[in-house]
Amino acid sequence: LADLDKAQWVSLAEGLKLETRLFIDGDYVDAAGGGRFETVNPATGDVLATMSEGTEADIDIAVAAAKRAFRDGRWSKMAPRSRMAVMYGFADLIEQEADTLALLDTLDMGKPISDMVNIDLPACAETIRFMAECIDKIDGKVTATEANVLHCILRQPFGVVGAISPWNYPLLMAVWKIAPALAAGNTVVLKPAEQSPLSCIRLGELFVRAGGPAGVLNVVNGFGETAGRALALHNDVAKVSFTGSTEVGKLILQYAGQSNMKHVALECGGKSPQIILADVSDLERAATAAVNGIFSNQGEVCNAGSRMIVDRRIAGDFVDLFQKTARDSFSAGDPLDPGTSMGPLVTEEHRRRVLGYIEAGQKDGARLVFGGDAPQSPGAFVNPTLFADASNDMVIAREEIFGPVGTVIPVDGADEAISIANDTSYGLAAGLWTSNLDTAMRLIREIEAGVVWVNSFDEGDMTQPFGGWKQSGNARDKCFDSVVSYTQMKSAWIRHS
Ligand code: NAD
Repeated sequence: LADLDKAQWVSLAEGLKLETRLFIDGDYVDAAGGGRFETVNPATGDVLATMSEGTEADIDIAVAAAKRAFRDGRWSKMAPRSRMAVMYGFADLIEQEADTLALLDTLDMGKPISDMVNIDLPACAETIRFMAECIDKIDGKVTATEANVLHCILRQPFGVVGAISPWNYPLLMAVWKIAPALAAGNTVVLKPAEQSPLSCIRLGELFVRAGGPAGVLNVVNGFGETAGRALALHNDVAKVSFTGSTEVGKLILQYAGQSNMKHVALECGGKSPQIILADVSDLERAATAAVNGIFSNQGEVCNAGSRMIVDRRIAGDFVDLFQKTARDSFSAGDPLDPGTSMGPLVTEEHRRRVLGYIEAGQKDGARLVFGGDAPQSPGAFVNPTLFADASNDMVIAREEIFGPVGTVIPVDGADEAISIANDTSYGLAAGLWTSNLDTAMRLIREIEAGVVWVNSFDEGDMTQPFGGWKQSGNARDKCFDSVVSYTQMKSAWIRHS
């Protein structure tokens, strides 16, 4: 796939057959109410497809199917090795269908095809394989007791898990939820984001083709306030796992309280600091990482290093290096061209929102270093943008822009850097650049974030817990603990003579 050129991708895209229905109980079905909604290609503004619109009735049907599938044990009671085989097959099929899946996300949300091929799809397959490997590593405990008692602590699946996912990595964010939930033996109803509904609907089919029993993985497209809300309020859903904005994350907590007190896992927004201290050993490397940290995936990344907190003594050099690297590596273009590094934003509405933040930055007095404008329509493009000489109380430093807009905040030394880094309601991730080990060790402990990268940014592997502190969330994706988080404890106190 890496060798396909633009003409080949365009021709593959023209031949694509789009699936628009819901996937419930092992098959594609139309929405109960017959409603439909349009999904648009943000690079052109053209309608790609009209999708079946799932509502509360469809969520009820899907949850009932998932509940039946859980209760009769067709998945949860399957031997771990057999469940692993299905999951491995699922990952294999994702790789076999990689061209279709890559195109679906690129067409639907604008992400460059090269990112889909090199990042998102390999990560989906790797996530499913990692979670499959965890299946027979989930174990309980036998504790110390008096002689006539055996006390076992079992780890058992919850039952039906509701997964609600965002549009910025449509397949990958869904896979980060469904793979550990399935590995732990749960059944799942997935509600993907309405802006990018085309790819996730295929996951249900691929799972079944890999030997997954019907009803174990169900996918219901629809809107957040209807289908998403119904899923999070459902009394037969034992756990809801959500990735999306902090605003909606708070609603999900309320829905749990208003219904059955279901467990809630939240992966929400961020405003991550990228701290660059004066003793950084390689400023050019830091600048390159900072450029990638804010401009990759059009800046539509929850852990984007959007606040660059830079020692005043090196801030000028940093901005120069940043500008040079950004000019060489990121410009908005056709996402079907494998040479494109930045596609359009997800929707025209989101482009207007991001342009509004750029206006706010200028109004608040930050210095616009480059960008700030948008190429002509059609297409929801925004040019990569950098603000310098900003302060942490400006709107562009406080709110999650979720677009290609970086902000440089100059500071005097490590103490001011850490105090500004932590002056945010978010706590997802942070970058720290220093050659002083003592400073690094101190700041690692002081940073209020779930992930800290030192002398790197946005690196990691499947063993790395990914998730936030503060209002960035309360859960962790990836990693072994993520599988365990889709189980609940049971204590069995067995008296014998
Ligand atoms: P969003 O909150 O608007 O939507 C996310 C999902 O929630 C969608 O499926 C949507 O339909 C659904 N939803 C919306 N309203 C709902 C409601 N009332 N009840 C139930 N479901 C509802 O977020 P988005 O715009 O799709 O995604 C961007 C956000 O996601 C950003 O804030 C980003 O930081 C965050 N994100 C976080 C992570 C992480 O790992 N922490 C990863 C990716 C994205």
